[in-house]
Amino acid sequence: MEFAAFAAHASAIEAEPADLETVALVAELFAESGDDLPVVARFVQGRVFPAHDSTKLDIGPALCYEAIARAAGQNVTAADVEDRLADRGEIGAVAASYDFGGQQGLSAFTGGRDKLTVAEVDTELRSLAAAEGAGSEETKLQTLFGLFNRCAADEAKYLARLVLAEMRIGVGEGTVRDAIAEAFAVPIEETERALQVSNDYGLVAETARDEGEAGLERIHLEVGRPVQAMLAQAGTVTDALDSWEAAVVETKYDGARVQVHASEAVRLYSRNMEDVTDALPEVVEFVEAELDVPAILDGEVVAVDDAGDPLPFQEILKRFRRKHDIGRAREEVTVELRAFDCLHVDGEDLLSAPLDERHARLDDLLDVGRSERLVSDDPDEIEAFEQAALDAGHEGIMLKDPSSRYTPGNRGKHWLKRKPDVETLDLVVTGAEWGEGRRASFLGTFLLAARTDDGYETIGKVATGITDERLAELTELLDPHIVRQEGQTVDIRPEVVFEVGYEEIQQSPTYSSGYALRFPRFVEVREEKSAADADTLERIERLR
Ligand code: AMP
Repeated sequence: MEFAAFAAHASAIEAEPADLETVALVAELFAESGDDLPVVARFVQGRVFPAHDSTKLDIGPALCYEAIARAAGQNVTAADVEDRLADRGEIGAVAASYDFGGQQGLSAFTGGRDKLTVAEVDTELRSLAAAEGAGSEETKLQTLFGLFNRCAADEAKYLARLVLAEMRIGVGEGTVRDAIAEAFAVPIEETERALQVSNDYGLVAETARDEGEAGLERIHLEVGRPVQAMLAQAGTVTDALDSWEAAVVETKYDGARVQVHASEAVRLYSRNMEDVTDALPEVVEFVEAELDVPAILDGEVVAVDDAGDPLPFQEILKRFRRKHDIGRAREEVTVELRAFDCLHVDGEDLLSAPLDERHARLDDLLDVGRSERLVSDDPDEIEAFEQAALDAGHEGIMLKDPSSRYTPGNRGKHWLKRKPDVETLDLVVTGAEWGEGRRASFLGTFLLAARTDDGYETIGKVATGITDERLAELTELLDPHIVRQEGQTVDIRPEVVFEVGYEEIQQSPTYSSGYALRFPRFVEVREEKSAADADTLERIERLR
């Protein structure tokens, strides 16, 4: 396909405001692309390489402006190109505003403009990405200049945008998926699945055309070809337990996402599917030692100190950025894997298997290096798990739907990162209960109240998230204020203020205030505050 034909299609697509029509136009382009279909399927999205390939063109704007200036003629400088850019706001319009064909460049030798093809643009851009070392900048500049030099206005427009990865013709991933389905009469769902597992629009388009639905069904995960990571959205324990029978609760590690591809060789990919294998040799060694079948795992790498405790996120970043002297970096900061999902084992794709099954497979593969995990429908148990994670220096917890599939690139409702408490309340302790068993000599559950004009109204109880040591201290603090005891329950003179986190305030007949806190969590004793400084019921009503 001539690049001019591609540019004409791109121009028509850009001018089309309606989504459905856009899909039809892209489908038409695909149907006409012939051997260039894989390349065209990438170019329409402003990509030269498939999404799973982290090779970069690595052409900065300055290099592109310089190439345009050279192709535009002797009197044009990169500064002029930038001036026009300030004026027109977009590099495609700038490139289209110069008359490349008319100037005396390479084309003079060939006796007129020889037609640029899509395949040639692809080959040249790929060679450009491969150029490295001394003189590579000049080589890139020459190559790009050579391409612009052969462009008419529309071609220049889309070449410039392609080079700077700013295609902007309104064609997103969904449009390409629908256009493949429309052009080659294959189901959208199967196209979507094939795209998710391959991350290669070119491969999927070509397979759909040449082998139809049956061909798409044969596209599977491949060890060594990364897929997009499944993402989480913010949510609460309430959201999780209201929607699912139970929640898988995992530690949320403050590290960096990593996808482990293990076969004869081990490769590691970042959240953006960049190959980060070389930066993390100890993770590679760990995987080599532990895994004896080909597999794809999802997880987090964390930086740890000598005692195995987590270090801040910045430490792991240092390791990711380090390109040289990895041995030294490794001595300074140790990293470890915390695998939390399993996408593939020994030829079997598990994306459609429920999370609890994927976890069982993960447990079969690895004895260590897994994320801490609990399956529970008990808010108190979840709370205690969260508190332990926070106490150990982790970021918090993730809540996951045990029956959910793995959906690459999807930020769905099946993975929730537990929202940190938005605000805390300072509440007065007006009662408590003695603990049981081992904790019989400590107060265990604390009744909390908010202040009103003429007293205190209760709003909830905190019990979880307090260590034995802390309970002993709290008992000592509150004991002198006990005014009445009945069985396990005591009334306490309103003197001591607790800072308390919560997820939600809801109306409830259980407490005298008419409200209850959902998932209250003890944060601290407010030593500097007296009961008169505690939060009022009025504030609580405002917070709802
Ligand atoms: P955020 O970056 O705040 O959107 O949180 C999502 C990120 O948390 C993921 O992309 C992972 O890198 C990270 N993470 C840490 N622990 C887990 C876990 N157990 N499950 C899933 N993601 C996790």
